[in-house]
Amino acid sequence: MLIERLEEYFQREERVRVRDYFYVTEVAKCPRQIFYSAKGFPRPPLDGQTARKLAVGDAAHQRIVQALYGMGIVVAAEAPIPPNPLFHGRADVIVSLEGKNYVVEIKTVHPYNFEQMVAAPRRDHYLQLQLYLHYFDIPQGVILAENKANQELREFVVGRDDEEIRRVLSTFERLRRIIFLEGRLPPPPDKSDWEYDQCRYCPYVEFCREELVAPPGAKEESVPAYGEDLRQSEGEPPGLFDGLV
Ligand code: SF4
Repeated sequence: MLIERLEEYFQREERVRVRDYFYVTEVAKCPRQIFYSAKGFPRPPLDGQTARKLAVGDAAHQRIVQALYGMGIVVAAEAPIPPNPLFHGRADVIVSLEGKNYVVEIKTVHPYNFEQMVAAPRRDHYLQLQLYLHYFDIPQGVILAENKANQELREFVVGRDDEEIRRVLSTFERLRRIIFLEGRLPPPPDKSDWEYDQCRYCPYVEFCREELVAPPGAKEESVPAYGEDLRQSEGEPPGLFDGLV
């Protein structure tokens, strides 16, 4: 009686926005998914259950940020990174403890993944935090994870990792050239360092299989073949996406 109505109430169309920049949250994403998202390819609507899961994550963020405010240690919340040609993003919260500022990334995590995060944080969370540390020029931060099943908390205090930041920025400079300046579809990714199979949850599988470079119905741009006129400069550090030329 109510379930069908609630499903309908929560489900929604995914907003599509053509853009010429990356989001910090895309730092470990498949480069082809980034291409399709940035070029405004359509996505299937969000079903009610997934929308409710996202709402639970948002509520957990708010609950934790409110508590940090209550402790009087918040310097800024939902802080946008300074304008730059590569990334847009907002840090969840910046706190001050014993005279030092920390960028705090709050993550709500599936119980299985939470159990995997004992010795180290997830790599995508780590890289997102590193970008915030870089853009805010803050030497340290915290990944604060909450188990979705029982609200157990776990934290990882990490310092800025300049080598990793250089590698990420170099990779995304190359990706920017391929996607936004050349209008190319990145080559199929090397999946060996993926933490999970992104293809399994990808909303763009059909477009990727057909290697579309323009949304269905849009006028297709003429694009050169992979690698043509695109060469890594000598001495460039290895990128996140091996095989990206
Ligand atoms: S299907 Fe796989 S390789 Fe293709 S865009 Fe999606 S995640 Fe990337």
